[in-house]
Amino acid sequence: MNEILEAFGLTDDPVPGVCVAGEWRQGSGGIVEIPNPATGEVLARVSLAGRDDYEAAVSSSVEAFLRWRTLPAPQRGEYVRRLGNALRERKEELGALVSLEVGKILPEGLGEVQEMIDICDFAVGLSRQLYGKTMASERPNHRMYEQWHPLGPVGVITAFNFPVAVWSWNAAIAAVCGDPILWKPSERTPLTAVAVTKICNEVMAGSGYEGVFNLVAGTGDVVGEAMVDDRRLPLISATGSTRMGKIVGPKVAARMGRTILELGGNNAIIVMDDADLELAIRAVLFAAVGTAGQRCTTLRRLLVHRAIADKFVDRLKDAYSQVRIGDPLDDGTLMGPLVSQAAVDQMMQALEAARDQGAQVVYGGKALDRPGYFVEPTIARIGKDAPIVQEETFAPILWVIEFDTLEEAIEIQNGVSQGLSSAIFTQSLKNAEKFLSATGSDCGIANVNIGTSGAEIGGAFGGEKDTGGGREAGSDSWKAYMRRQTTTINWGDDLPLAQGIEFG
Ligand code: NAD
Repeated sequence: MNEILEAFGLTDDPVPGVCVAGEWRQGSGGIVEIPNPATGEVLARVSLAGRDDYEAAVSSSVEAFLRWRTLPAPQRGEYVRRLGNALRERKEELGALVSLEVGKILPEGLGEVQEMIDICDFAVGLSRQLYGKTMASERPNHRMYEQWHPLGPVGVITAFNFPVAVWSWNAAIAAVCGDPILWKPSERTPLTAVAVTKICNEVMAGSGYEGVFNLVAGTGDVVGEAMVDDRRLPLISATGSTRMGKIVGPKVAARMGRTILELGGNNAIIVMDDADLELAIRAVLFAAVGTAGQRCTTLRRLLVHRAIADKFVDRLKDAYSQVRIGDPLDDGTLMGPLVSQAAVDQMMQALEAARDQGAQVVYGGKALDRPGYFVEPTIARIGKDAPIVQEETFAPILWVIEFDTLEEAIEIQNGVSQGLSSAIFTQSLKNAEKFLSATGSDCGIANVNIGTSGAEIGGAFGGEKDTGGGREAGSDSWKAYMRRQTTTINWGDDLPLAQGIEFG
């Protein structure tokens, strides 16, 4: 375990949690102890940013912006290419650190770093493709087009469960768009953020652009709120709970800032009676149990056709019984611990409420009697109207709800306040197309014969309704990190007005 921390020099006590233009400093915002979720023992202590550290970091970002925006985008892309290569070299170590700090199993920790590498590759290509359109002007001898300019420093607030990948979705794209990044990681996961910032520093050292990547590990109410209120950050990209988004969104809007909000999900899979059940079981298992149920895209509601419900649940219980729970760094472990004791307590409270609302727990349901924050993956059959089903319980609880028709299933699936990810398992083209149509799933992600989690970076990622409406990563998500300018040039000798207006 110590080798994993040593690999990134995380040996100081406390570890400095603030980095301004490549220079580390001990934060003035108090000290946080980071436990190993697999044992409960303290891994390290980290000093958090206070207001003075925040001020230094934001000033550094503003100063870096003035120069970074003048560097041609393909040259900015060259730095991101080097960052991707540095991540390739450190993939094993960083993946292990993610597992250690968050408790997700090693293949998922490595997968998270792979996602960082993938988005860097994507951003490098993008650095030569920040295209604007040329439109036909209605006036003779005029040219009209739009161009995209860098926006300014971007405040990136991240959640504990993807402690490094979500930063990279924002940072790689923002960097090629010409924007420095001011990162506030979750106070639960500063160690991985410090490690990533050290990698950034290696890449940027001596370039004169060290201030492009700044780190302010701090609490939501000190650093988070300072970012949200700060007009020097024209864009706040915040990932976390809907509760947090409902505070952040209105505050940034009140100062006319922009947000990308990536908030909670309450995702469903519909299993039709014509589904390939083998495929569906495997997908449900990964989507519900992967990352111990702590993904925003985790499957929380399994909507299963009444005709196959009993058979499907029996097979699922059998699959659950083969899930090996244990140290996330051990080979063969499929499910690690939850992130904290508070997360275990919340899961138990949710199950108690569910039982009061008529749920029948058919698998699991208990915390494990061992050090660390381990629980059993849990399956509970429940009525579609139980209030607890409306909530995002960030734990491996799968609610099983029966339905009779696809229309009813779609209504249940859309009948929650969140709108992140959704899926259907069917072999019928008609069912699949209906699910994907305008009257089908209302989510930002809709899959056929694939689970709800495990998105690729090439698509735009995000969700509707209480999930916040933001889009990150691939497709044209980059446009949120730039400002659009519409330009019209008159190269003639007259001054014709639009709409044919004659004036004087
Ligand atoms: P959280 O809301 O507790 O914290 C997220 C981040 O917001 C942290 O960095 C926290 O310090 C910060 N924060 C909290 N209050 C703030 C405030 N008032 N102002 C500014 N910042 C503030 O979430 P969490 O427990 O770390 O993560 C789990 C949640 O994140 C789940 O709801 C999950 O669905 C969601 N999530 C969503 C996505 C997505 O892409 N939609 C991805 C990952 C996680």
